[in-house]
This record gives sequence, structure tokens and C-alpha cells, in this order.
Amino acid sequence: MLRHQAAKMIRFVSAAGERILVVLQNLYLVRMTDIQDIAQALREFSNARDWDQFHNPKDLALAISIEAGELLEQFLWKDPADADPDRIKQELADVFSFAILLANKYNWDVKKIVLDKLQETELKYPVEKAKGTAKKYNEL
Ligand SMILES: [Mg+2]
Repeated sequence: MLRHQAAKMIRFVSAAGERILVVLQNLYLVRMTDIQDIAQALREFSNARDWDQFHNPKDLALAISIEAGELLEQFLWKDPADADPDRIKQELADVFSFAILLANKYNWDVKKIVLDKLQETELKYPVEKAKGTAKKYNEL
């Protein structure tokens, strides 16, 4: 009897797990489509202004760094709780925009390069060594 109940429970958990996986995969696909939509909107914005001529890899990388500086400026000399979320949002959007433009310049798939890098990072920071610590991988 217990064996039958255990088998039934395992089937139930397995089915629930599969349903959760499908939901997560769908959410993931929606997000990746969103990135492609953003890239298209950025290209249209840039093309309408003939700005692609200025968007070489060096200047896009500089723009990412400058916008990241503007993001940091929102926190400068403040308690993080006092930083203006609207200004943070604006600067973060600038960072994302130039990062996506740079990826496009090299014809890189944002999804692929981020997930490839995450896979490399997972190897550097195995959960059993990195969980709960901010140490760099070479100090784990
Ligand atoms: Mg800015």
C-alpha cells in the first residue's frame, strides 16, 4: 500500500514539475522575444536619424560605460534608499540600449551570449562553493 502511494506521489510531483517547466520555458521565450523587439525598435530609431554611422563598436562600448557612470551617479553620496528610482530606470535603460546595439553590431544573439556566459560563470562558481559568499571564484 505504501509503495503504491509513493509511486502515485512521485507521478504527481513529476507531472507538476513538468507543468512548471513548461510555464518557465514559455516565460523565457516571451522575454527573449522582447529583446528582439527592443533591438528592432533601437535599429528603427537609429536608422531614422542616420545614427548608425556613429555606432561603431568602440563608441558603443564607450557609451555603455558612460551610461553606467550616469547610473552610478544616481547613487553617489547617497544612501541607496534615497536614490531616485525613476532616474535609475532611465540610466539603466540607456545601458541596456547601448549594450543591445553593440551586440547587434556584431550580429550576436543577446540570448545566446548571455546564456553562454552564464554557463561559463556557473563553472567558476559552483553552488556548493559559492552559495552565500561574495568571494571571487579564485578565492573559493
Ligand atoms: Mg543617460
